[in-house]
Order: sequence, then structure tokens, then C-alpha cells
Amino acid sequence: MIRTFFITVCSTVLLTATPVLAQNAAVRAITSVQGDLYRFQNNNHFSVFLVTSEGVIASDPIDREAALWLKQEIQARFQQPVKYLVYSHDHRDHISGGEVFDEAVVVSHVGTKEKIIGEQRPTALPDLTYSQTMTIELGGKTVELIHAGRNHSDNSTVLFFPEERAVFAVDFISVDRMPYRTLNDSNIPDWFDSMKMVEALDFDIMLPGHGVVGTKADVTEHRMYLELLYATVLKGVRAGQGLEAMIEQVRFDQYDHFEQYESALPLNIQGMYRMITANRVGN
Ligand SMILES: [Zn+2]
Repeated sequence: MIRTFFITVCSTVLLTATPVLAQNAAVRAITSVQGDLYRFQNNNHFSVFLVTSEGVIASDPIDREAALWLKQEIQARFQQPVKYLVYSHDHRDHISGGEVFDEAVVVSHVGTKEKIIGEQRPTALPDLTYSQTMTIELGGKTVELIHAGRNHSDNSTVLFFPEERAVFAVDFISVDRMPYRTLNDSNIPDWFDSMKMVEALDFDIMLPGHGVVGTKADVTEHRMYLELLYATVLKGVRAGQGLEAMIEQVRFDQYDHFEQYESALPLNIQGMYRMITANRVGN
């Protein structure tokens, strides 16, 4: 049902979706989403950008080679420079290569900048930071940046495109896909509130940093999976169940349509077990 919805909404604009095989065999593509909003693919990573008459508002550069390709493609297709570059969170695999967009104002959550400096991420330092929300207006178009609290990392920025009714959120929301491996750099249970905040936004199109595009219903489904994982592992820990027994016995087969279900499930349980036991005071 979710897929059908997306195809209906976007089938008329998926004109440039054919992936391009670059010299280094990276799969790169620019795909129309809605109006002047586009999705950029670099192998398994995705970001988005909005084209306006006064320049482009772009998001994660992904890495230097990807950013060089994207900058050239945006100039060739739209004859507009990138005026703003917004980082989704501090992780290297999404925001490397920001220095390529040397004409852009680089924007991030204040916590993202701290981590970029602390971890020495290979990218441009943000010129502008915000703490709760920030609005970027350019060429009559609007992007709202929202800090959705602590989830995957503690410095995520959600990009909300109200006119396009779309949301770009990276690594803390997946569509039909398991959370990544052992949930490193995660904040449970704050993560659930963060997803509810996104669910409360008025939008139709969910654009994650990995995998397929979805809808708001996919955000809810992803939250419900994580909540079930948390509740199940917490209950097991409280009952004195060990990690190995849990990995052997726990199944969530109502989510077996999620990509990487079989390979990620034991790792998700392991990560959740580690988090819960690190923070729990038992009797
Ligand atoms: Zn990440």
C-alpha cells in the first residue's frame, strides 16, 4: 500500500532516475521528488536538494567525490549555485566533502559542529548553527530545519519542506528497513519521542538517508518496531535472560518484510541489550 502511494505521487516526476555509473563505479543519480525538490543518490547514501530561482539549498554532501559530482550536475542541469548546505548530523559517511561547496553557507545543529570539531570530520565547518529550529528562505521557497532531539546521534537535523510536503531525516528513520546493525550512537528511549515529533509534521513523503522513499506511515512502523525491540529486550533483561538466549528466541516476524531483517535482528538485539544493561540499575 505504501509503495503504491509513492508510485502514484511521484510517477510523473521520476524522469531522471536512471543511475549513472561513474568512473569509479559509484552509482549516482538525481531523481525528482516533488516540485523543485530532488533526491541525490551516491551508492547506498542519499541526500536531497531544493532548487530555487536564487540558488539551491542542498543537504548532506556524502563524500568529496560525490560532492564534486553533485556540484557539477546541479550547475549543468539548473544553472544555479548551491547557496546553503545543511548537514543532517555529524557522521562522516553523510557529511564528508562539504568544502566542495565553497560558495555555500554551511548550516548545522550546534551539536553537529561540536562533533565535527571534536571528531575531526573531513568536511567544511558550519558557518551557521541553531539549537531548536531554523527557517531558510530563498527564492520564495522555504525549508524548516528542526532538531528532533536525541535519536541516532544527539544532533540530528530534520529538513522539512512544507510546500513539497516532504521530510528528509537521516539514520534515525528508515523505510521498510531495519535500523543499522548494533545501533551505535543511539539514545533510547528519547529516540521514540524524536520520531513522534516527525510524525506530527504535516507531510506525505519520507526521504531517508538510505533505502527507498516512503510515507508518514513508514515512520510510524519504524517507531513501533524500535519500541517493540526495546520493550522485549528490557523485559528479557529484567527476567534475567542472557543475550545469547535472547538472540536465539526473539523474533519480530511481523517486520520480516524489512530489508536486512534476518542479518540485522541479532545485531539490533545485541545493541539494545548493551544500551539497556549499561543504563539499568537492577535489584
Ligand atoms: Zn549516522
